[in-house]
Amino acid sequence: MSCDHELDAEFLYPSDAAVLDLFEEDDDIHIRFAVPCPECDLALELTARVEEMDEAALSLPLDDAEDVYD
Ligand SMILES: [Zn+2]
Repeated sequence: MSCDHELDAEFLYPSDAAVLDLFEEDDDIHIRFAVPCPECDLALELTARVEEMDEAALSLPLDDAEDVYD
């Protein structure tokens, strides 16, 4: 099984994403995470480079109960 679907951010939810790894490469922080494809539900692994860092107006760890999508 393979997935060639274009990802649409409209159908991606933070509550479905799982952070797999955070690592440093070429002096940049990278984040590796997994989300289910909205079309076929296959787990997809995505890697992104961190380009911005700001102080967050929240406290960690996040309370899971706050992010409920019905
Ligand atoms: Zn797919």
